[in-house]
Amino acid sequence: MNHLNVSAVLSSLKAVLPQGREFIPLHEPVFSQAEKTYVTECIESGWVSSVGAFVNRFEQELSDFTGAKRAIAVVNGTSALHIALQLAGVKAGDEVFVPALTFVATANAVSYCGALPHFVDSEEQTLGIDPAKLDVWLQSIAIPNPNGQGGYVNSSTGRRLAAIVPMHTFGHASDIAGLVKVANHWEIPIVEDAAESLGSSYEGKHTGTFGKLGVISFNGNKIITTGGGGAIITDDDELADQAKYLTTTAKQPHRWEFNHDAVGYNYRMPNLNAALGCAQLENLPALLERKRLLAHRYRDTFDSVQGLRWISEPKGSRSNYWLNALLLDQGNEQYRDQILDLTNSNGIMTRPAWNLMHRLPMYATSPRMKSLAVAESLERRLINIPSSANL
Ligand SMILES: *Cc1c(COP(=O)(O)O)cnc(C)c1O
Repeated sequence: MNHLNVSAVLSSLKAVLPQGREFIPLHEPVFSQAEKTYVTECIESGWVSSVGAFVNRFEQELSDFTGAKRAIAVVNGTSALHIALQLAGVKAGDEVFVPALTFVATANAVSYCGALPHFVDSEEQTLGIDPAKLDVWLQSIAIPNPNGQGGYVNSSTGRRLAAIVPMHTFGHASDIAGLVKVANHWEIPIVEDAAESLGSSYEGKHTGTFGKLGVISFNGNKIITTGGGGAIITDDDELADQAKYLTTTAKQPHRWEFNHDAVGYNYRMPNLNAALGCAQLENLPALLERKRLLAHRYRDTFDSVQGLRWISEPKGSRSNYWLNALLLDQGNEQYRDQILDLTNSNGIMTRPAWNLMHRLPMYATSPRMKSLAVAESLERRLINIPSSANL
């Protein structure tokens, strides 16, 4: 532990951020002229709702950008997770491994399937699930499925271990190679929560393309936005067709008949939102470049501040730097709220990481690793700082 000077944190932020603004939010969208052009075009076409050319174009461009064979656009990242989990085979009564350190939507989507999130610990280098610790945990809890249907169950609850959901925190890739190894060994499919990591890659491959399915969010605070929106990405044509079918009320294609043969969802992204998305995607490479420049200015400035470190992209990966973060040294936890208080009273928005999932009332009794020590330590030491591309 190094002594930490709270006012040095404020002056370092001020040195990087633009002067003369009354308030600098954590993350705001950046628009160009193209958004107005496309949205106007969409309105004038009359096709503003769940069918239209912009949706198809957005999906095609998303598939080109991520390298995933298929992309299916939906109303938000949470609904994308819900459908992706269902298509990965998650059923009522199953357990799904979810990091304790994540946004609540990851766990909620598991609940929508009637399954239980099973909370696991993170590692400090990536802020994502620790594959070695997950493997050791599986060795202690997993037994082969006694009903002979393959896979493993939790020996203490008898529930099937149905999926692992790695989440790429703040846009930094998890140790996805490590997690794929563990997942293959234990015959558990991976659904990647890449909601925060559009534009981030691991060993040159886009995040969200390592599991059976991946999920992206286009909420207003994410790296690009469609107002509200999300996408499922996958290399599996059959799963992609299923995703499109389930998110459009499970309707059989027909020129006039309403023939639905499963309980489907009205989760399709409206054309109006996709129009915004097409414009945002055009701008994404430029946004990524600007966010990288901002990140490097933070890196250089906080390099000389003692008692904390700026979170850099993990080895072997390239981050979109969606949200920059500072990590207080162990032993400096008591400064977190002082820093949050000082910066927010000076018009610079900062925020701690999420409250951990296993402490939220609806998940207090969910299964969990015995020790979530790293997630608990990260929770007390992380601070997000302003990260908009226009800074
Ligand atoms: C934003 C986010 C989601 C959900 O996306 P929405 O589009 O807001 O529904 C899911 N998981 C994580 C980790 C997120 O950050």
